[in-house]
Amino acid sequence: MPKISLIEEAQEVSRAVALIELGARMQVLESELSLSRERLIRLYREVKSESPPKGMLPSSADWYMTWQANIHASLFYHTYSFLKQEARCSHVDALTKGYRLYREHCTSTGLDVHLDLTRAWTLVRFFNGGILEMHQCCRCKGKFVSYKHDLPRAKACVMCQPPSRAGKKAKTLEAVH
Ligand SMILES: [Zn+2]
Repeated sequence: MPKISLIEEAQEVSRAVALIELGARMQVLESELSLSRERLIRLYREVKSESPPKGMLPSSADWYMTWQANIHASLFYHTYSFLKQEARCSHVDALTKGYRLYREHCTSTGLDVHLDLTRAWTLVRFFNGGILEMHQCCRCKGKFVSYKHDLPRAKACVMCQPPSRAGKKAKTLEAVH
């Protein structure tokens, strides 16, 4: 690991604390921050008063295609890209701030927080890996999360074309719009 200055280290600690508070798993922390695994585990225990959970991270992009997850993922990704491209935040800061804003939006509108921080982080990885992209809805012209390949070009978003099983549709759509 490259040696970092005390100030940089303090900044990394504060980033780690913010991410842990938002629910980051060890894999997220280890891949985004330059602190050692031992320090991250210690920080995790101090912030959460428990050991970090073990186990695999979700790995399928299909999850983001179910209608409700798609609305939440699109909402988060809009916020993330705005912070990264317009507000010039770093990836980690855009992830942290974007996720916090997304969560605040859900709680202020009475929605369940459908996307946890790990899912939000994995989503960005799928975008960076060229698996997902934002696709323009052929009806409302809004952009939504979609597979980059094998897509019929004229596709409507789940808000314009919700599945018939979407029971909580009205509530979710109202809150997002
Ligand atoms: Zn639409």
